[in-house]
Amino acid sequence: MKRTTCLFDCLLVDALIDQPQKGHPLIGMCMTMTISFKELGLAQPLLQATEALGYTQATPVQEKVIPAAISGGDWMVSSQTGSGKTAAFLLPLLNQLIAANPNGKPVPGRAEPQVLVLCPTRELAQQVSADAINLVKFARGIRIATIMGGMPYGKQISQIKGANLVVATPGRLLDLSNSRAIRLDKVKCMIVDEADRMLDLGFQDDIEAIHELCSDRGQTLMFSATFAPRIMQLATSLMNNPGRIELASAHDKHENIAQTLHWADSVAHKHKLLSHWLSDPTMEQAVVFASTQADSETIADSLRADGHEATALHGAMPQAVRNRRLQSLRKGQTRILVATDVAARGIDVPTITHVINFGLPMKAEDYVHRIGRTGRAGRSGVAITLAEHRDRSKIRAIEQYTQQPLQAEVIPGLEPSEKSRKPSHRPGSGRPGRSFGGKGASNASNRHGQGQGEGKTFKQNHFAKPSGPKFAGSGKPSSGPKFGGSGKPSSGQKRTFA
Ligand code: ADP
Ligand code: MG
Repeated sequence: MKRTTCLFDCLLVDALIDQPQKGHPLIGMCMTMTISFKELGLAQPLLQATEALGYTQATPVQEKVIPAAISGGDWMVSSQTGSGKTAAFLLPLLNQLIAANPNGKPVPGRAEPQVLVLCPTRELAQQVSADAINLVKFARGIRIATIMGGMPYGKQISQIKGANLVVATPGRLLDLSNSRAIRLDKVKCMIVDEADRMLDLGFQDDIEAIHELCSDRGQTLMFSATFAPRIMQLATSLMNNPGRIELASAHDKHENIAQTLHWADSVAHKHKLLSHWLSDPTMEQAVVFASTQADSETIADSLRADGHEATALHGAMPQAVRNRRLQSLRKGQTRILVATDVAARGIDVPTITHVINFGLPMKAEDYVHRIGRTGRAGRSGVAITLAEHRDRSKIRAIEQYTQQPLQAEVIPGLEPSEKSRKPSHRPGSGRPGRSFGGKGASNASNRHGQGQGEGKTFKQNHFAKPSGPKFAGSGKPSSGPKFGGSGKPSSGQKRTFA
């Protein structure tokens, strides 16, 4: 097993490759260059689409994943929120589909997709489908369909006829497969997006059942915020000797998101702090995270009573309402979305400037996903966490997970009592202490007084090109259809699964 590691600034690429593949793009010299989509060997219609979307160059994760996926084999990928992972898997697979049908012949109306993307939430499935539709705008003969719960069956069944790429949530996909409305045995590549979330939501068995239904496929790509042991276990059952691409992981600092913590004495105090931040003149759109569905409704009600344009979003709402509310956020008609963790992943609304954690997440890793709703596509963002004294252990868990202290700040006039200010760090923990007042307070007032100019600048982000060397290889992977015939020795063959 060959292990290649390259470290530069905050960006880490770690590729575990079983055997050197001929021309494998991740094997080779470390070199610095900027890679355009053209250099990645993508078909003309995809180049037109990326240009129309304003993507001038590939993001680091796209630079690594596109050639790797085109060259074949199974890959596990981890990279920060908002770093462009969706296009990183869609582009190479759409490229394969275009290469397999160069004349854009109309697709037969059978429900037998070749590419299957699995997503943990309906919102994410819709987001990924919308991205895929944008990317095939200039291609002929490629059809995209979305399968997810909460929407009428009839429309989905007719939509999947003739679709080459299906984006699905696991439950409804299995429903449709069981009723023979879709066949999965022609799938050549399966992508599992947000794999760690899939496991959190209890989709392991469903994913394994889907994996069996398309076990003849030649390629599996798995995207996950972490490569924790439970993810590796899932990877072992779904994939064949996967290569690994890891860029600026969830643990790494989101350089473009200014993170602040406010200690509060009570829920009423948190409401005052929330109101303060929502009146920030630099706030364009905010997602306020609540711990429970009921809290999301209560907070949205109270914000509306205070004259804010706020709306709630949670998983107990009918899907049509969820869709409408998200759509209204995307169109800029909703300024404040108060949501549960259903919105922690997948929502890509570049105009979200602020994420406010009113209720803390159950799991530390959800903190990273929540704050990743801002600072998308290389923009900057602000993430505010409101915590009560009793939340200390959760804050510690977040700090441990992100491996960085959350800077506590105070808003003049909204200071917490002495008890709440007490630092949560255990003496001798070796981690940096927080500032309570002092610098923090002046930062807070600067932010408010000066339109947050300083708070919003960032040094480096995952869209920026790293300054150090990186894996790039030739950057020109072999083109042409690779389905079923991966460059990886073991991947193209029919596989057995432990
Ligand atoms: P992730 O899945 O990593 O959280 P997304 O794939 O949702 O992130 O992408 C985040 C945002 O970046 C989206 O708005 C997307 O349109 C945009 N984006 C993706 N690739 C590029 C690129 N090469 N150049 C500019 N913007 C991009
Ligand atoms: Mg994503």
